[in-house]
Amino acid sequence: MAKIVVLGGGESGVGSAVLAKVKGFEVFLSDRGEISEKYAEQLRKWDIPFESGRHSEEKILDADEIIKSPGIPLTVPLVVKAQEKGIPIISEIEFAGRYDSAKKICITGSNGKTTTTSLIYYLLQQAGLNVGLGGNIGKSYAMQVATEKYDYYVLELSSFQLDNMYDFKADIAIITNITPDHLDRYDYNIDNYAKAKFRITRNMSDEDCFIFCSDDEITIQQLDSIIVKAKMLPFSQKNILKEGAWKENGQICVQTEGQDRCDLLIKDLALSGKHNVYNSMAAAIAGKVMNIKNEKIRQSLQSFKAVEHRLEQVRCVGGVNYINDSKATNVDAAWYALECQEHPVVWIVGGTDKGNDYSTLYDLVKEKVKAIVCLGVDNQKIHAAFENLVGQRNIVDTKSAEEAVQASARFAQDGDTVLLSPCCASFDLFKNYEERGKLFKEAVWNL
Ligand code: ADP
Repeated sequence: MAKIVVLGGGESGVGSAVLAKVKGFEVFLSDRGEISEKYAEQLRKWDIPFESGRHSEEKILDADEIIKSPGIPLTVPLVVKAQEKGIPIISEIEFAGRYDSAKKICITGSNGKTTTTSLIYYLLQQAGLNVGLGGNIGKSYAMQVATEKYDYYVLELSSFQLDNMYDFKADIAIITNITPDHLDRYDYNIDNYAKAKFRITRNMSDEDCFIFCSDDEITIQQLDSIIVKAKMLPFSQKNILKEGAWKENGQICVQTEGQDRCDLLIKDLALSGKHNVYNSMAAAIAGKVMNIKNEKIRQSLQSFKAVEHRLEQVRCVGGVNYINDSKATNVDAAWYALECQEHPVVWIVGGTDKGNDYSTLYDLVKEKVKAIVCLGVDNQKIHAAFENLVGQRNIVDTKSAEEAVQASARFAQDGDTVLLSPCCASFDLFKNYEERGKLFKEAVWNL
């Protein structure tokens, strides 16, 4: 019996182990950290042997194939040894794709993945299709392939998940945009990072579709050197296109071959902001490609509810509107959040800096931000970047969500907006961006 070793005992690792078990492999799962009780219980339930807190090298290097969780870098010594020994190393998505004949709509990009994935999932559900949701979001894709049966999957794929994908094929692939993020994993080389994103188009044929943003410079640059066999369907807010999606007279227009055009009024879209016009365009093209009726596409994009922590409306207190955009962990995401604000902003920003270049935000901050509340351990860079734009008196340091909300409430007046859109990762003060967002919301509700 072929032996499969799964490295990493989180959502994707445990799902992969269960699928391998169901498919009759001899499976062993190893995690150098602690496996949480929830996952340990699942492994026991499925009778899958595992170890936690160590890697038994001999056992691991005896595998015929290794499924590596996306969080484990390829540079870890054990992974390097496995590679040297010639053991194939694949991702959860590659493995699960082998056993899944459903039509797959796959989404990657630097920003907008979760929003676009959720929009498309909602749209397909509204259209009555039997559709699953997976990848970087919700339940493990492999686990669902092992235990459920769907005709369609909408999969959010991070570049870490796209690494170690070889034969997997998407039927519809979407790259929302490519802007610098996670460059530490790609030798600080944007070209490597962009190429990792383009792995989503591997193995596609002319019967498949590739949906991309033609306003995105890095995407367009890559298309000079990468041959994509799929039908190309761009979306743009700058140019009027023949096919794909574009903006005209306050509407999104969507045109795909041989179908009637679908027009959507931008002011009626459920998600506001220029970035969400892009996300809605990508979702609408996917809907058209899947032959969903125009009316259904319109209704869905108008009734969708924002995903938690993404420009999420929390509450209005004393005429001040509080918005939670904790997921904005890079400069580009915060740019779009500020861009769509129509009232004076008290901006909560800061956290673990990922080598941010704040200069692209100067104009927006000058125009829209009246005060800055830093929420982080080390706020020097933020002070240096913005202090002279808002004035020394209008920038303060805080070290908890509660303190930040209270400071913001002091700055804000009737009609203002308090926006948590931190530009940074959350790990200096919080477990993750979800915790940061939750504590922010709690503090807002306690005002
Ligand atoms: P991802 O899953 O790629 O991290 P999300 O949909 O979770 O993307 O959104 C992350 C952040 O980026 C949020 O702050 C959101 O407001 C912002 N954002 C969403 N879509 C886009 C886009 N198309 N371009 C730039 N920023 C975006």
